[in-house]
Amino acid sequence: MKKRLFTPGPISVPEDVLLEMAKPIIHHRTPEFLQIAQQAVEGLKYFFQTKNDVFIIAGSGTAAMEASVVNLLSPGDKALVISGGKFGERFVELIKTYNCEPVVIESGWGNPVDLRLIEDTLNNQPEIKAVFATLVETSTGTSYDIKGIGEIVSRKPETVFVVDGISGLGAVECRTDQWNIDALVSGSQKALSLPPGISFISISEKAWTKINNSKMPRYYLNLKKYKKAMEKFDFPFTMAVGLVVGLRKSLENIKQEGIENLWQIHRRRALAVKNAMASIGLNLFSKSPSDAVTAIVLPEGIDGEKFCSDMRKDFGMSVAGGQDKLKGKVIRISHFGYQDEFDTIAVIAGIELMLNKYGYKVEPGTGVREAMKVLFSI
Ligand code: PMP
Repeated sequence: MKKRLFTPGPISVPEDVLLEMAKPIIHHRTPEFLQIAQQAVEGLKYFFQTKNDVFIIAGSGTAAMEASVVNLLSPGDKALVISGGKFGERFVELIKTYNCEPVVIESGWGNPVDLRLIEDTLNNQPEIKAVFATLVETSTGTSYDIKGIGEIVSRKPETVFVVDGISGLGAVECRTDQWNIDALVSGSQKALSLPPGISFISISEKAWTKINNSKMPRYYLNLKKYKKAMEKFDFPFTMAVGLVVGLRKSLENIKQEGIENLWQIHRRRALAVKNAMASIGLNLFSKSPSDAVTAIVLPEGIDGEKFCSDMRKDFGMSVAGGQDKLKGKVIRISHFGYQDEFDTIAVIAGIELMLNKYGYKVEPGTGVREAMKVLFSI
């Protein structure tokens, strides 16, 4: 059976990237590797839409999230977190772990955030040193107004704006410099179409001032070490050589496609799934659905966990279940990674078949038809 990954990371990796990574491993302190790293970092700047420094960290996305906290804050600092799901909550946990004080604006799972609340909080508590937000909250499939938040934070010269773009970057519009993002975090196993294992962080001039003055203890994630090494396109510690080789290839593909086209492709896939689900009577969980991940509410009485494991067993399709309070209630489909229009059709067909198996009667092809209209403009 053919295996298809629709999980919001890890995702399927394109053959040309897999073949690059299958080449013999080279040493990480050689001119050959440093040139690959240089090209990868230049590609990342395009991917991030930034002229700022971008660093590669060997570690999953959470490592880069942790890097933002330990470099930009000092113990005791107050930081505002906009949280509406599992990964917003992760920022809160990280901030507490390092003895800083989170001030949380809870948007509610699946809801967008009220920008006036952010502005009022920053006006009332000028001691807030950083604002943390998420581009796409993977647990709910929700997009946040990062541009709007960035505008507000940019008016505060002492406050930096940190964004978790792990799920969204490359799938939805995000312009680091234009949107005043001081630190943008991302990971390899999402829209970059790579295996998991490396993460990224961009740092603005404003953020460097914070880093240089920070009193937080840190070692592996000390970005000053990364900056020094990056002068020669080197890394302070042994880099994940194979993944960086794959990264260079993947970024080359993205550059060729064009980042705006990539956003458009994801928009079309997400719309196809949304219309397909509406046609069979299923709702999306999010009130501000993203083009990166779609969370679909299952009909009452269907166990999401079992639904996902049967999708895998019966059709070879991996979709994700719900997390925490959404466990068993939703399924989540990613639109990033090595997928094409026919994969989107396949997952919709799989969902229709599985719903019928569970007694929720759907005329086969109803959702597929709606999706085809979007995907193929028919
Ligand atoms: N933030 C978001 C938005 C994510 O989707 C994820 C991973 N699903 C993470 C953070 C954590 O990344 P990782 O699992 O790579 O550490």
